[in-house]
Amino acid sequence: MTHTENGTLEIGLAPNAVRPLSKEKSGTLINVLFHFAEKSFHRWWIEVFLACRALLFVGTRYTCPCCGWRLRAFTHGNTSLKVRPNGYCARCNSKARHRRNWLYLESKTNLFADQLRLLHVSPKYALSRRFIKMPNLDYVGVDRVGRPNIRQKVDITAIPFDADTFDAIICIHVLEHIEEDRQAMRELFRVLKPEGWAVISVPLRLDQKTFEDPTIVAPEERQRAFGEEQHVRVYGYDLTERLEECGFQVQLDLSTNIDSRTRDKYGLLDDENIFYCTKT
Ligand SMILES: [Zn+2]
Repeated sequence: MTHTENGTLEIGLAPNAVRPLSKEKSGTLINVLFHFAEKSFHRWWIEVFLACRALLFVGTRYTCPCCGWRLRAFTHGNTSLKVRPNGYCARCNSKARHRRNWLYLESKTNLFADQLRLLHVSPKYALSRRFIKMPNLDYVGVDRVGRPNIRQKVDITAIPFDADTFDAIICIHVLEHIEEDRQAMRELFRVLKPEGWAVISVPLRLDQKTFEDPTIVAPEERQRAFGEEQHVRVYGYDLTERLEECGFQVQLDLSTNIDSRTRDKYGLLDDENIFYCTKT
């Protein structure tokens, strides 16, 4: 089980700090440097690169809510200087899903207003680099492996914290990697305080039921069946039910409700739906 979004290098974002470079991303000096930076926890390398690249992409066309940078375009990859619609923020490496979640957290939760103890599962650097500096947050980043902004190595099917510990939980694109996802959901529910909230998102197909098959284990078969080598299922419309069975009250915030002006301004995609889960 891993909490990775994909099997390739992500600057400061990759959960697996010792994973080798993928064939397609290895070979360039910049990728070698960032692989080293990630493994060595040299965050300043990452920040220097991002700051330099941000200057190349400065503009007025788009805004990244995660870092506030104004951009002329998004980049193709996290080390790329090429352009891709709705791709990565040149300043902080946010993806469309991170920008969507940031906007949701800002407008629909008390994350930026109240004193909160926050559990962030498998955080991506674009988010954790900001959250960790927010004075109102006691920020606890966790993942299976150590890397920047991770306070503790944690298997989320057996979270080593007491019940009712966290005011808020953020878990973005993690559960689709977890074989025992119901156990992970029960654990998230257990460590959440009563009246607390969890923001959960996954790749979701609202036109079908969740598809999973534990006999599919080969990476290439998982790629074919679930869309990613490290995914173990494709969630469908019944995810709400699955979360409710684990104790949560669930509200689904559909990305299709976002107006086109907002979507265009922040470089959002239309498939990032957010499950707002509460414990009452
Ligand atoms: Zn950004």
